[in-house]
Amino acid sequence: MKKCAELAIIVPCYNEEEVLENSIKTLNKIYDDLIKNELIAPSSKIVFVNDGSKDQTWPLIQKAHKKQPHIKGICLSRNFGHQEALLAGLYNTTADIYITIDADLQDDPAVIKNMVKEYYKGSEVVYGVRNKRDTDSFFKRNTALWFYKIMKILGVELVSNHADFRLLSRRAVCTMAEFKEKNLFLRAIVPLIGFQSANVYYDRKKREAGTTKYPLKKMILFALKGISSFSAVPLHLITLSGIIISILSFFLMLWTIIAYFNNSTIVGWASLMSAITFFSGITILFMGIIGEYIASIFIEVKNRPTYIIDKTLD
Ligand code: UDP
Ligand code: MG
Repeated sequence: MKKCAELAIIVPCYNEEEVLENSIKTLNKIYDDLIKNELIAPSSKIVFVNDGSKDQTWPLIQKAHKKQPHIKGICLSRNFGHQEALLAGLYNTTADIYITIDADLQDDPAVIKNMVKEYYKGSEVVYGVRNKRDTDSFFKRNTALWFYKIMKILGVELVSNHADFRLLSRRAVCTMAEFKEKNLFLRAIVPLIGFQSANVYYDRKKREAGTTKYPLKKMILFALKGISSFSAVPLHLITLSGIIISILSFFLMLWTIIAYFNNSTIVGWASLMSAITFFSGITILFMGIIGEYIASIFIEVKNRPTYIIDKTLD
């Protein structure tokens, strides 16, 4: 059996000075426990990816690395975003298994042990799945619920209530690297990898300090990115409604001509206004949707680097 694999815990950090010291302490405890129980190799590491923080995050990582060499650091040249920081960590660390977890440890790190056990049972991907969402605001809970529903209708396979807390084997990470797209929405890419997978369940806590790095605007953009890079269904819906509207307007035209020859046409300001506003609205909306896809293509063809590493601590 592949016992005692080398583990790398990847932690993306963006302005996390308020939580970092505590998170390092907690993760170290879990790391020590895993080594003591011979679940992971002594060469395992915790890798903090500094995603262009403007606060004391990087100096804190440096300090921790000096004291404990199993703590590594990757410093990106500027802020690239959560998904990009995760990839920087995954693709620039060698290990047998990788676990990604947010720096605020809202996702319960105690289940890391269960994730590793699932790996030994044969899973190459282990999803961390939240039991309840009662620590979220009413708004976040409901928008998330709708997001999963819409994605399902659009044919995108997602694991409900799973964010970016997961275990990936080295083989899974290498396979993920084959997905060359720049529009990153990891939680939809990972199920496409295939291989045997498992879920571990946990209760998500409230953020203890600092503020969320996903304000509403970022959340909406992230959701749009998820849809436009994984499903062409909105485009098909546009075509379909175009066909239906064309058929309806053909009959409307027939009716208009008949009415004209019957001399029963009247000055129809209200109906004309409704038709104009309705169809202008639909046209702009559809153009917007097509625009989202063009924007995705625009990002892809430029093929810019997903992240740039400034310095590393290893
Ligand atoms: N993060 C990042 N770059 C960003 C935004 C966020 O590396 O541009 C990190 C952040 O430090 C945290 C994780 O991504 O470790 C998730 O962010 P947060 O906890 O603020 O999101 P929420 O839990 O509120 O959805
Ligand atoms: Mg968080």
